[in-house]
Amino acid sequence: MKIIDLHNHTKYSYDGQNSTREVIENAIKNGVDILGITDHQFSIQENITRYIAEIKGLKKEFSDRITVLCGLEIGTRPKPDDFMPILSKELDFCLFESLDSSRAVDLYEFLEWRRLFLCPTGLAHTDIFALSKRYDVNFLAVMKRENIFWEINCSGNYDYYFDIISNKEKQEMVRNSGISVSVGSDTHWIGDYNIKKVIQTNEFIKKLGNPILF
Ligand SMILES: [Zn+2]
Repeated sequence: MKIIDLHNHTKYSYDGQNSTREVIENAIKNGVDILGITDHQFSIQENITRYIAEIKGLKKEFSDRITVLCGLEIGTRPKPDDFMPILSKELDFCLFESLDSSRAVDLYEFLEWRRLFLCPTGLAHTDIFALSKRYDVNFLAVMKRENIFWEINCSGNYDYYFDIISNKEKQEMVRNSGISVSVGSDTHWIGDYNIKKVIQTNEFIKKLGNPILF
């Protein structure tokens, strides 16, 4: 089983404490196979070119030991009007965070905007069942149609994680929907890296039957 962790922060984020190199070396030490770096777009701002170039350089340097993916975590509370989706053609993937927040952009406006993105896109720490309820829509079917993957965020900071790992009915719904699912540790400091949780969550998504493949 390949161990993936598609949600990690570096010093490019206001709340990240390590360099990109340190985050990659820590992931290698812990046996991660596919690592996504996903700093906050609102922290990176005009440093986006440097950010992408740095990750691409390290991706090459470490390519015999780990697959590094250049991602970005994009806020939706509200939707950032200054972020140009065209930039996403330089990225391996994007995560949109907290679409279930009461302050988040309207779901239908989000879906229109997301279509402008040219890389794979997923939802970070979002309770998609809560969204289904709020908008009275089968959001799993929407995600499948729009090709949006779902992050199981194993940081322990979000209730939907505990819900999905224990709720067989919801697991069956995700399995049947055919949507892709990823794992995100949402680590901000390598001293906090919880590889046990990351492995457990990888095993969990494997049982769900549709881990995202890069
Ligand atoms: Zn994050």
